Amino acid sequence: VLDVRDVKKSYEGLEVLKGIGFGLRRGETKVLVGPSGSGKSTLLRCINHLTPPDEGRIFLSGEEVLEKNIDAMRARIGFVFQDFNLFSHLTVLDNVRICQVKVKGVAADVATERAQQELERVGLGDKASAYPAELSGGQQQRVSIARALAMDPDVLLFDEPTSALDPELTGEVVRVMQKLASDGMTMVVVTHEMSFARQAADELIFMENGYIIEQGPPQQLFSSAANDRTRAFLNVIA
Ligand code: ATP
Ligand code: MG
Repeated sequence: VLDVRDVKKSYEGLEVLKGIGFGLRRGETKVLVGPSGSGKSTLLRCINHLTPPDEGRIFLSGEEVLEKNIDAMRARIGFVFQDFNLFSHLTVLDNVRICQVKVKGVAADVATERAQQELERVGLGDKASAYPAELSGGQQQRVSIARALAMDPDVLLFDEPTSALDPELTGEVVRVMQKLASDGMTMVVVTHEMSFARQAADELIFMENGYIIEQGPPQQLFSSAANDRTRAFLNVIA
């Protein structure tokens, strides 16, 4: 589904991604970990050109992501941010329906029905008419997941979806992500939630200093990472 090939990115001479490649098959979940500044967010942002890569190629279901098709591609790449990014002046339901109508041209009643379905999927069927400010952080993040799901994306990217939440609210978001993973959603998740990585990830990718240092099944990396730095990092966070 997703094929990232030799992506490089520099900011004013600082090389942040030094040649990153990985693939993701349909239904796979990969968890991306690494020290602060290693380039995780930059990599996710390069995938849908929120930050255009300097070099390398990205393919989604066989089609290359390019500047000229970026709007259509972005509609197929769901993105869940750390800070939710909901529209504060719209109800929860409208937050989840609006992109379907505006970006995909879905009919209003179809979009409403889909929005309601996705809200139920994240356990917020009863919050449709609330405004974001009336919800907890965990609920707001679940709305933003529902919004991404309503677009029927080929792949969902999560950038530290629980790190802006109080600890007692991370569980409800992690459980929703675990359910998506077991339902066969295709996902790349940057997170420090190692319980999620252990249970839901098909592969764990360890990034440092702009490179992928090691990747493999989480059990294998946790128990016997080949690389010293991978082992040291996982020992600290796991
Ligand atoms: P964290 O775990 O703290 O979120 P990260 O792995 O997501 O870190 P990035 O945000 O991708 O790391 O940043 C990688 C490097 O790129 C850092 O050195 C950062 O300062 C730099 N960087 C990121 N965005 C920009 C930008 N817009 N302009 C200049 N430098 C940037
Ligand atoms: Mg980051």
